Amino acid sequence: MSKRAIISGISGQDGAYLAQLLLDKGYEVVGLLRENNHPDGLTGLEYLGIKDKIKFEYVNLLHIHEVENLFDKVQPDEFYNLAAQSSVFKSFKEPIQTFQFNTISVFNLLETIKNKHPEVKFYQASSSEMYGKVNNLPITENSVLHPLSPYAISKAAAHFTCIHYRESYGLHISCGVLFNHESYLRQEHFFVKKVIRESIKISKGEQQLLSVGNIDVKRDFGYAPKYVEVMYLMLQKEHPSDYLICSGKSVSLRDIIFYVFEKLKIDKSACKISDELYRPADIEDIYGNNTKAKSELNWDYDLSILDVLDLLIEEELKNQ
Ligand code: NAP
Repeated sequence: MSKRAIISGISGQDGAYLAQLLLDKGYEVVGLLRENNHPDGLTGLEYLGIKDKIKFEYVNLLHIHEVENLFDKVQPDEFYNLAAQSSVFKSFKEPIQTFQFNTISVFNLLETIKNKHPEVKFYQASSSEMYGKVNNLPITENSVLHPLSPYAISKAAAHFTCIHYRESYGLHISCGVLFNHESYLRQEHFFVKKVIRESIKISKGEQQLLSVGNIDVKRDFGYAPKYVEVMYLMLQKEHPSDYLICSGKSVSLRDIIFYVFEKLKIDKSACKISDELYRPADIEDIYGNNTKAKSELNWDYDLSILDVLDLLIEEELKNQ
Protein backbone atom coordinates (compact mmCIF):
# COMPACT_ATOMS: atom_id res chain seq x y z
CA MET A 1 0.00 0.00 0.00
CA SER A 2 1.31 3.45 -0.83
CA LYS A 3 2.25 5.85 1.93
CA ARG A 4 0.14 8.94 2.53
CA ALA A 5 1.65 12.35 3.20
CA ILE A 6 0.05 15.66 4.06
CA ILE A 7 1.85 18.82 2.95
CA SER A 8 0.88 22.17 4.45
CA GLY A 9 2.00 25.14 2.38
CA ILE A 10 1.56 23.12 -0.84
CA SER A 11 0.84 26.32 -2.79
CA GLY A 12 4.35 27.60 -2.01
CA GLN A 13 7.69 26.95 -3.67
CA ASP A 14 8.84 24.06 -1.46
CA GLY A 15 5.38 22.52 -1.26
CA ALA A 16 5.23 22.15 -5.04
CA TYR A 17 8.68 20.56 -5.40
CA LEU A 18 8.15 18.30 -2.39
CA ALA A 19 4.79 17.13 -3.76
CA GLN A 20 6.48 16.27 -7.05
CA LEU A 21 9.17 14.27 -5.26
CA LEU A 22 6.69 12.35 -3.08
CA LEU A 23 4.43 11.55 -6.06
CA ASP A 24 7.48 10.23 -7.92
CA LYS A 25 8.11 7.95 -4.94
CA GLY A 26 4.55 6.58 -5.12
CA TYR A 27 3.02 8.53 -2.24
CA GLU A 28 -0.59 9.64 -2.02
CA VAL A 29 -0.26 13.39 -1.46
CA VAL A 30 -2.83 15.52 0.35
CA GLY A 31 -2.21 19.26 0.08
CA LEU A 32 -3.57 21.76 2.59
CA LEU A 33 -5.00 25.04 1.42
CA ARG A 34 -6.36 27.95 3.37
CA GLU A 35 -9.90 28.97 2.65
CA ASN A 36 -9.23 31.82 0.24
CA ASN A 37 -6.75 29.85 -1.86
CA HIS A 38 -8.66 28.38 -4.76
CA PRO A 39 -6.92 25.49 -6.58
CA ASP A 40 -7.02 27.66 -9.75
CA GLY A 41 -4.31 29.76 -8.12
CA LEU A 42 -1.91 26.85 -7.72
CA THR A 43 0.42 27.92 -10.48
CA GLY A 44 3.45 26.09 -9.08
CA LEU A 45 1.69 22.73 -9.08
CA GLU A 46 0.31 23.45 -12.52
CA TYR A 47 3.76 24.42 -13.80
CA LEU A 48 5.09 21.05 -12.59
CA GLY A 49 2.08 19.25 -14.16
CA ILE A 50 1.02 17.59 -10.88
CA LYS A 51 -2.02 19.53 -9.70
CA ASP A 52 -4.49 16.82 -10.76
CA LYS A 53 -2.60 14.14 -8.83
CA ILE A 54 -3.07 15.84 -5.47
CA LYS A 55 -6.06 15.74 -3.14
CA PHE A 56 -6.75 19.07 -1.49
CA GLU A 57 -8.18 19.81 1.93
CA TYR A 58 -9.16 23.22 3.29
CA VAL A 59 -7.95 23.56 6.86
CA ASN A 60 -7.31 26.49 9.15
CA LEU A 61 -4.25 25.36 11.11
CA LEU A 62 -5.09 27.86 13.84
CA HIS A 63 -8.17 25.78 14.76
CA ILE A 64 -7.20 22.56 16.50
CA HIS A 65 -10.54 20.86 15.82
CA GLU A 66 -10.02 21.29 12.11
CA VAL A 67 -6.53 19.81 12.46
CA GLU A 68 -7.88 16.83 14.42
CA ASN A 69 -10.62 16.21 11.85
CA LEU A 70 -8.04 16.33 9.08
CA PHE A 71 -5.83 13.71 10.73
CA ASP A 72 -8.81 11.47 11.49
CA LYS A 73 -9.97 11.69 7.89
CA VAL A 74 -6.64 11.34 6.07
CA GLN A 75 -4.77 9.03 8.48
CA PRO A 76 -1.37 10.21 7.18
CA ASP A 77 1.97 8.41 7.59
CA GLU A 78 3.92 11.66 7.29
CA PHE A 79 3.19 15.36 7.73
CA TYR A 80 5.39 18.02 6.13
CA ASN A 81 4.73 21.39 7.76
CA LEU A 82 5.78 24.05 5.26
CA ALA A 83 2.97 26.58 5.75
CA ALA A 84 4.21 29.85 7.22
CA GLN A 85 4.19 33.57 6.75
CA SER A 86 7.63 33.23 5.21
CA SER A 87 8.76 36.77 4.41
CA VAL A 88 11.23 38.43 6.79
CA PHE A 89 10.44 41.86 5.31
CA LYS A 90 6.67 41.38 5.77
CA SER A 91 7.18 40.12 9.33
CA PHE A 92 8.44 43.57 10.41
CA LYS A 93 5.15 45.03 9.14
CA GLU A 94 2.94 42.20 10.48
CA PRO A 95 4.81 40.83 13.52
CA ILE A 96 1.82 39.59 15.49
CA GLN A 97 0.13 37.74 12.63
CA THR A 98 3.47 36.23 11.65
CA PHE A 99 4.23 35.01 15.16
CA GLN A 100 0.71 33.81 15.76
CA PHE A 101 0.39 31.69 12.64
CA ASN A 102 3.94 30.35 12.57
CA THR A 103 3.79 29.11 16.17
CA ILE A 104 0.16 28.24 17.02
CA SER A 105 -0.19 26.14 13.86
CA VAL A 106 2.76 24.03 15.05
CA PHE A 107 1.29 23.59 18.54
CA ASN A 108 -2.04 22.49 17.04
CA LEU A 109 -0.35 19.95 14.78
CA LEU A 110 1.88 18.52 17.50
CA GLU A 111 -0.91 18.37 20.09
CA THR A 112 -2.98 16.41 17.57
CA ILE A 113 -0.11 14.03 16.85
CA LYS A 114 0.71 13.58 20.54
CA ASN A 115 -2.88 12.98 21.62
CA LYS A 116 -4.33 10.97 18.76
CA HIS A 117 -1.78 10.08 16.06
CA PRO A 118 1.61 9.48 17.68
CA GLU A 119 2.76 7.24 14.83
CA VAL A 120 2.78 10.13 12.31
CA LYS A 121 6.25 11.36 11.33
CA PHE A 122 6.50 15.14 11.30
CA TYR A 123 8.78 17.53 9.40
CA GLN A 124 9.10 21.17 10.44
CA ALA A 125 10.42 23.89 8.11
CA SER A 126 12.87 25.74 10.35
CA SER A 127 15.03 28.56 9.06
CA SER A 128 18.63 29.75 9.17
CA GLU A 129 17.18 33.17 10.03
CA MET A 130 16.86 31.82 13.60
CA TYR A 131 20.63 32.18 14.02
CA GLY A 132 20.54 35.90 13.21
CA LYS A 133 23.33 37.67 15.01
CA VAL A 134 26.14 35.28 14.32
CA ASN A 135 29.35 35.06 16.33
CA ASN A 136 31.04 32.11 14.66
CA LEU A 137 30.81 30.89 11.10
CA PRO A 138 29.98 28.44 9.71
CA ILE A 139 26.73 27.80 11.55
CA THR A 140 26.39 24.23 12.81
CA GLU A 141 23.51 22.33 14.42
CA ASN A 142 24.97 23.45 17.79
CA SER A 143 25.20 27.20 17.14
CA VAL A 144 23.34 29.55 19.45
CA LEU A 145 20.11 31.14 18.18
CA HIS A 146 19.80 34.94 18.21
CA PRO A 147 16.88 35.87 15.91
CA LEU A 148 16.79 39.35 14.37
CA SER A 149 13.24 39.60 13.02
CA PRO A 150 9.69 38.68 14.02
CA TYR A 151 9.85 35.94 11.37
CA ALA A 152 13.03 34.52 12.89
CA ILE A 153 11.57 34.71 16.40
CA SER A 154 8.48 32.80 15.26
CA LYS A 155 10.59 30.13 13.57
CA ALA A 156 12.80 29.78 16.65
CA ALA A 157 9.73 29.34 18.87
CA ALA A 158 8.31 26.71 16.50
CA HIS A 159 11.71 24.99 16.34
CA PHE A 160 11.93 24.67 20.13
CA THR A 161 8.31 23.53 20.24
CA CYS A 162 9.27 20.65 17.95
CA ILE A 163 12.30 19.75 20.04
CA HIS A 164 10.16 19.83 23.17
CA TYR A 165 7.54 17.45 21.76
CA ARG A 166 10.24 15.11 20.41
CA GLU A 167 12.16 14.97 23.68
CA SER A 168 9.18 14.90 26.02
CA TYR A 169 6.86 12.54 24.16
CA GLY A 170 9.20 10.47 21.99
CA LEU A 171 7.55 11.56 18.73
CA HIS A 172 9.22 11.28 15.31
CA ILE A 173 9.71 15.02 14.72
CA SER A 174 12.58 16.41 12.62
CA CYS A 175 13.42 20.00 11.77
CA GLY A 176 15.19 20.98 8.58
CA VAL A 177 17.00 24.26 9.17
CA LEU A 178 17.03 25.48 5.62
CA PHE A 179 19.16 28.36 4.42
CA ASN A 180 17.86 30.51 1.54
CA HIS A 181 16.90 28.36 -1.44
CA GLU A 182 15.63 29.54 -4.76
CA SER A 183 13.79 28.29 -7.82
CA TYR A 184 11.65 29.40 -10.71
CA LEU A 185 8.64 28.97 -8.38
CA ARG A 186 9.90 31.44 -5.76
CA GLN A 187 7.41 34.24 -4.98
CA GLU A 188 8.23 37.39 -6.92
CA HIS A 189 9.08 39.64 -3.99
CA PHE A 190 11.97 37.42 -2.83
CA PHE A 191 15.39 38.77 -3.68
CA VAL A 192 16.85 36.39 -6.29
CA LYS A 193 13.59 35.96 -8.19
CA LYS A 194 13.05 39.72 -8.18
CA VAL A 195 16.58 40.43 -9.43
CA ILE A 196 16.29 37.95 -12.29
CA ARG A 197 12.78 38.93 -13.39
CA GLU A 198 13.39 42.67 -13.23
CA SER A 199 16.81 42.40 -14.87
CA ILE A 200 15.23 40.59 -17.81
CA LYS A 201 12.75 43.47 -18.08
CA ILE A 202 15.63 45.98 -17.98
CA SER A 203 17.48 44.04 -20.70
CA LYS A 204 14.35 44.27 -22.90
CA GLY A 205 13.92 47.99 -22.24
CA GLU A 206 10.69 47.44 -20.31
CA GLN A 207 12.08 48.77 -17.00
CA GLN A 208 14.78 51.33 -16.13
CA LEU A 209 16.12 50.46 -12.69
CA LEU A 210 16.38 47.65 -10.17
CA SER A 211 15.55 48.99 -6.67
CA VAL A 212 17.15 47.12 -3.80
CA GLY A 213 17.88 47.55 -0.09
CA ASN A 214 21.10 46.65 1.71
CA ILE A 215 23.05 44.59 -0.83
CA ASP A 216 26.23 44.27 1.24
CA VAL A 217 24.73 41.50 3.37
CA LYS A 218 25.80 37.95 2.54
CA ARG A 219 23.69 34.79 2.45
CA ASP A 220 24.12 31.07 1.77
CA PHE A 221 21.88 30.31 -1.24
CA GLY A 222 20.84 26.94 -2.64
CA TYR A 223 18.50 25.27 -5.13
CA ALA A 224 14.98 24.41 -3.86
CA PRO A 225 14.33 21.24 -5.92
CA LYS A 226 17.46 19.71 -4.34
CA TYR A 227 16.73 21.02 -0.83
CA VAL A 228 13.28 19.36 -0.62
CA GLU A 229 14.99 15.95 -1.01
CA VAL A 230 16.27 16.31 2.52
CA MET A 231 12.77 16.77 3.96
CA TYR A 232 11.83 13.33 2.63
CA LEU A 233 15.15 11.75 3.69
CA MET A 234 14.77 13.03 7.25
CA LEU A 235 11.45 11.26 7.72
CA GLN A 236 12.84 7.95 6.41
CA LYS A 237 15.46 7.79 9.18
CA GLU A 238 14.76 5.49 12.11
CA HIS A 239 15.55 8.27 14.59
CA PRO A 240 14.43 11.89 14.18
CA SER A 241 16.91 14.75 14.38
CA ASP A 242 17.54 18.29 13.15
CA TYR A 243 19.71 19.10 10.14
CA LEU A 244 21.18 22.21 8.54
CA ILE A 245 20.51 22.33 4.81
CA CYS A 246 22.81 24.75 3.07
CA SER A 247 25.48 25.07 0.41
CA GLY A 248 28.29 25.92 2.83
CA LYS A 249 29.26 29.27 1.25
CA SER A 250 27.90 32.80 1.36
CA VAL A 251 27.76 35.44 -1.33
CA SER A 252 26.83 39.13 -1.15
CA LEU A 253 23.58 40.30 -2.71
CA ARG A 254 25.69 42.82 -4.64
CA ASP A 255 27.66 39.99 -6.29
CA ILE A 256 24.42 38.26 -7.25
CA ILE A 257 23.05 41.39 -8.90
CA PHE A 258 26.21 42.07 -10.85
CA TYR A 259 26.51 38.44 -11.99
CA VAL A 260 22.94 38.60 -13.35
CA PHE A 261 23.59 42.03 -14.90
CA GLU A 262 26.72 40.75 -16.62
CA LYS A 263 24.90 37.71 -18.04
CA LEU A 264 22.12 39.95 -19.37
CA LYS A 265 24.51 42.72 -20.49
CA ILE A 266 23.12 45.39 -18.18
CA ASP A 267 25.18 48.34 -16.93
CA LYS A 268 25.83 48.45 -13.18
CA SER A 269 24.27 51.92 -13.00
CA ALA A 270 20.83 50.30 -13.36
CA CYS A 271 21.05 49.20 -9.71
CA LYS A 272 19.43 51.72 -7.35
CA ILE A 273 19.75 51.54 -3.57
CA SER A 274 16.48 52.44 -1.85
CA ASP A 275 16.42 53.26 1.88
CA GLU A 276 12.80 52.10 2.06
CA LEU A 277 13.90 48.56 1.34
CA TYR A 278 16.32 48.40 4.26
CA ARG A 279 15.24 46.22 7.20
CA PRO A 280 15.29 47.54 10.79
CA ALA A 281 17.81 44.78 11.58
CA ASP A 282 19.63 42.40 9.29
CA ILE A 283 22.06 39.48 9.36
CA GLU A 284 25.41 40.63 7.95
CA ASP A 285 26.82 37.30 6.85
CA ILE A 286 25.69 33.72 7.31
CA TYR A 287 26.64 30.34 5.94
CA GLY A 288 26.30 26.87 7.31
CA ASN A 289 28.00 23.52 7.55
CA ASN A 290 26.04 20.74 5.80
CA THR A 291 28.26 17.83 6.90
CA LYS A 292 25.61 16.22 9.11
CA ALA A 293 22.98 16.16 6.34
CA LYS A 294 25.47 14.86 3.80
CA SER A 295 26.88 12.11 6.00
CA GLU A 296 23.77 10.93 7.86
CA LEU A 297 21.21 11.36 5.08
CA ASN A 298 23.46 10.68 2.08
CA TRP A 299 22.31 13.97 0.62
CA ASP A 300 24.47 15.01 -2.26
CA TYR A 301 24.66 18.69 -3.10
CA ASP A 302 27.40 20.46 -4.97
CA LEU A 303 25.77 23.43 -6.72
CA SER A 304 27.37 26.85 -6.28
CA ILE A 305 25.20 29.97 -6.25
CA LEU A 306 26.48 30.75 -9.75
CA ASP A 307 25.26 27.32 -10.97
CA VAL A 308 21.89 28.09 -9.39
CA LEU A 309 21.73 31.55 -11.00
CA ASP A 310 22.56 30.06 -14.42
CA LEU A 311 19.71 27.53 -14.03
CA LEU A 312 17.24 30.18 -12.88
CA ILE A 313 18.07 32.73 -15.58
CA GLU A 314 17.70 30.02 -18.24
CA GLU A 315 14.33 28.85 -16.88
CA GLU A 316 13.04 32.41 -16.52
CA LEU A 317 14.04 33.27 -20.10
CA LYS A 318 12.49 30.03 -21.40
CA ASN A 319 9.18 30.97 -19.80
CA GLN A 320 9.02 34.58 -21.05
P1 NAP B 1 6.36 30.21 0.36
O1 NAP B 1 6.57 29.97 -1.11
O2 NAP B 1 6.27 31.59 0.87
O3 NAP B 1 5.05 29.38 0.78
C1 NAP B 1 4.48 29.56 2.04
C2 NAP B 1 3.28 28.67 2.12
O4 NAP B 1 2.66 28.88 3.40
C3 NAP B 1 2.20 28.96 1.06
O5 NAP B 1 1.63 27.75 0.64
C4 NAP B 1 1.18 29.80 1.82
O6 NAP B 1 -0.14 29.64 1.37
C5 NAP B 1 1.27 29.15 3.20
N1 NAP B 1 0.77 30.07 4.22
C6 NAP B 1 1.26 31.30 4.55
N2 NAP B 1 0.53 31.85 5.52
C7 NAP B 1 -0.47 30.96 5.79
C8 NAP B 1 -1.57 30.96 6.67
N3 NAP B 1 -1.81 31.98 7.50
N4 NAP B 1 -2.40 29.87 6.67
C9 NAP B 1 -2.16 28.83 5.86
N5 NAP B 1 -1.13 28.77 4.97
C10 NAP B 1 -0.31 29.82 4.96
O7 NAP B 1 7.49 29.48 1.23
P2 NAP B 1 8.61 28.44 0.78
O8 NAP B 1 9.76 29.18 0.23
O9 NAP B 1 7.97 27.34 0.01
O10 NAP B 1 9.08 27.91 2.21
C11 NAP B 1 8.44 26.78 2.83
C12 NAP B 1 8.71 26.82 4.32
O11 NAP B 1 10.12 26.83 4.56
C13 NAP B 1 8.18 28.08 5.04
O12 NAP B 1 7.76 27.67 6.32
C14 NAP B 1 9.38 28.98 5.14
O13 NAP B 1 9.27 29.86 6.23
C15 NAP B 1 10.49 27.95 5.33
N6 NAP B 1 11.82 28.38 4.86
C16 NAP B 1 12.00 28.79 3.58
C17 NAP B 1 13.27 29.16 3.13
C18 NAP B 1 13.50 29.60 1.72
O14 NAP B 1 14.61 30.10 1.42
N7 NAP B 1 12.57 29.39 0.80
C19 NAP B 1 14.36 29.07 4.01
C20 NAP B 1 14.14 28.61 5.31
C21 NAP B 1 12.87 28.24 5.72
P3 NAP B 1 -0.89 30.77 0.46
O15 NAP B 1 -0.59 30.37 -0.97
O16 NAP B 1 -2.32 30.60 0.81
O17 NAP B 1 -0.34 32.11 0.83
